[in-house]
Formats: sequence, C-alpha cells, structure tokens
Amino acid sequence: MICPKCKGEGVLRIFSPQRFMNCYFCNGSKTVPEIHAQWIVEGTILKDRRIQKRFILRKAANLLKMDPKDLSDMEIGKVKPNLNISYRTIKTIKH
Ligand SMILES: [Zn+2]
Repeated sequence: MICPKCKGEGVLRIFSPQRFMNCYFCNGSKTVPEIHAQWIVEGTILKDRRIQKRFILRKAANLLKMDPKDLSDMEIGKVKPNLNISYRTIKTIKH
C-alpha cells in the first residue's frame, strides 16, 4: 500500500515546503506492506487507551518498562502493536 504518512512521496515536509525529512514511516521507500493498515488501526486503539489515562508517551513507556520509541512505533502502526498492553492495571504514582 502507499505509505499513509507521506502519501507515497517518501519524504515529509517540516515547517516549510522547502524542508524535507525522510519519511519515518516507510523510511523513504514510499510504500509499506498491506499489513500496516491493520497495525495502524490497532495502534490507534493502543494510543486511545493511553490517552484515556492521560499518560504522555514517555511516562507510559516508562511504566511499561519500554523504550518510548518502541511504544511510539506501535502507536503509529510502524511495528505490530501489542494489544496485550493495558493501562488498566497500572497505578499512577501520586506526587
Ligand atoms: Zn512514507
């Protein structure tokens, strides 16, 4: 399928039309395997669960003992999301 992030351009514009970065989703290859369509849906579910708990990504990753990059990749569907991740059992640390 055409990369959903860069719409098949392989690059993303940053701040202005003249500045580009390599697309972080397809790494510039412009297309991604079909399975990513499913992963994007699942990643959105993960992200919604996190936002319901009002966790920022870094904090959520910390609580899950994960690298924030790995959690982020799951939430955007770049890698297969682990739907076993649940924030229900995680207690927020009180300050
Ligand atoms: Zn792309």
